[in-house]
Amino acid sequence: MQTWDKYTRRSGLLIVVSGPSGVGKDSVLDEFSKICPDVKRCVTTTTREPRKNEIDGVDYNFVSHEEFQRRIEHGGFLEYAEFYGNLYGTPRKWVEEKLADGTDVILKIEVQGGRAVKKQMPEAVMVFLVAPSLEELERRLRSRGTEADDIIAGRLNRALAELEHIPDYQYMIVNDSVARAAEELKAVISAEHCRIKQ
Ligand code: 5GP
Repeated sequence: MQTWDKYTRRSGLLIVVSGPSGVGKDSVLDEFSKICPDVKRCVTTTTREPRKNEIDGVDYNFVSHEEFQRRIEHGGFLEYAEFYGNLYGTPRKWVEEKLADGTDVILKIEVQGGRAVKKQMPEAVMVFLVAPSLEELERRLRSRGTEADDIIAGRLNRALAELEHIPDYQYMIVNDSVARAAEELKAVISAEHCRIKQ
């Protein structure tokens, strides 16, 4: 029985999904949630203002700077990072509880956060999402219509810098079709579940 457990006991997988803003992480993850509803997405805590259509507690947990600082001091985040003047953090307790009960968890975080998670949890599965081209990424950022030109230019520059982090990741998925990218993510997770731990 002990030998059986040793090799077959299944704990949840921690899957980190990163990629430049505008690449379509939310669309791919929304589609993925439809085909794999048992994999839970972690809701990030942020000090950013909600965009229109964003729902508190669903898209993000929106908190004040003061509240965020208080949670940092209490060790409440697995990792946190500043991004364009706003803070984003992964709630530690929620993630640890889900993994312990065997639930797979997806974190949608930027590259600094991804690196911090990998350091603390080396077994995390690292997935990088890219747009088919830089021109397409710019088009997607503009079509969102929520950001001013200088912010879009900044995000494009940052996107280029983020590509340098691809070697920190194990898988790269090109988001040329949301449905296909979601299927590829599902395939990655299935393969990771079948992998024998060394
Ligand atoms: P946005 O403001 O466009 O929703 O997100 C900005 C960036 O913050 C994205 O690249 C997103 O992946 C990242 N982000 C969202 N949640 C977290 C988090 O919990 N931790 C870190 N480090 N980054 C996050």
